[in-house]
Amino acid sequence: MSTTASALKAPTKLLFGPGPSPVHPRVYEAMRQPIVGHLDPFFFQVNEDIRRGLKTCFGTANEFTMVISGTGSAGMECAVTNFVEPGAKVAVFANGYFSDRLTEMARRHGGDVVRLEKPWGETYTDAEAREFIASTKPAVVAFVQAETSTGAYQPGHAICKAAHEAGALVIADCVTSLGGMPVLVDESGIDIAYSGTQKALGCPPGLAPITCSPRALEWLKARKTTTVSWYLDLKLLLDYYESAHRYHHTAPISMFYALHESLAIITEEGLENRWARHKANHEAFVAGLAEIGVGMLVAEGHRLWTLNTPFVPAGVNDMNVRKKLMAEHSIEIAGGLGPLGGKVFRIGTMGYGSSPENVQLLLGALKDAFQAEGYGK
Ligand SMILES: *Cc1c(COP(=O)(O)O)cnc(C)c1O
Repeated sequence: MSTTASALKAPTKLLFGPGPSPVHPRVYEAMRQPIVGHLDPFFFQVNEDIRRGLKTCFGTANEFTMVISGTGSAGMECAVTNFVEPGAKVAVFANGYFSDRLTEMARRHGGDVVRLEKPWGETYTDAEAREFIASTKPAVVAFVQAETSTGAYQPGHAICKAAHEAGALVIADCVTSLGGMPVLVDESGIDIAYSGTQKALGCPPGLAPITCSPRALEWLKARKTTTVSWYLDLKLLLDYYESAHRYHHTAPISMFYALHESLAIITEEGLENRWARHKANHEAFVAGLAEIGVGMLVAEGHRLWTLNTPFVPAGVNDMNVRKKLMAEHSIEIAGGLGPLGGKVFRIGTMGYGSSPENVQLLLGALKDAFQAEGYGK
């Protein structure tokens, strides 16, 4: 029988997959601080700071900006359970794994899901967005702004404009854009945006930031049916986090400290500087890959700066490359999902991990591994 008698000693891995991403040392340090109770005034102060910092990252003046206890998927389920009523028509812009997850969640909540399909790695044009929404007349529209399964970026302005003309609310998955790329909630018109702490924010997994527009809030207040999920019920959560501070659940205090620190780091760096850093390192990585003849799945101008999807070069086995990177450098990257299995790598350059040094490290290790597979000799 195994025991847990010895002290834990976790290995240090270089996390360049689609998440979790490397955690800033200051964030680890913040997590060591003593916890307080979940009704302690200090905790609510920390929470207020977090809400303010998140508004900046989301690009919103929404008062209703907070975090859900849980990972990015909890943010997704929170958006769905609160805003998709049984029988409601939900229009999903499908182009990857996470839009499929949104579809599944909306169906489980009784949503009548209609999907527009595109091959993985592509994005939707303004005309396609307008046409789909005008012809389906949904109550809710859902899309993935940063599709981590493909590396494609869909800012969402045209989707939101068409949705609002049709009287629909818009849910956007911003898990891999928040803190690394423009999310621009107010400018684009997104009604409900959610994210996670473990991608470009540079924290461990565990919290899901979410923001809701005044019109989403108005809709929620008027909603007559009860939200299926008790844990993710935003009306109950508002009672806890806002004035009443009524106990709902025990907030994971150490994760709040982590997010507080990561938002402080973002404020020091400046959000736009942080975007520029992600863009520059992403572009340097793409340029380095081009030098050895490796292309990208996503068309230029539609790529995420946080997650890169280069093609697996001809004759190269992606599993062998990933194993070699892990064995020789403790580097974690990921392979493609679904239709992209064996065809692309998914390589994260996000949060604390997005640096020129890491780009060089990745390029060197990849060249080596490709050569071992007989490519680029
Ligand atoms: C990672 C991710 C999620 C899910 O987040 P978890 O933290 O794994 O629960 C959802 N959507 C996108 C686009 C993601 O990249």
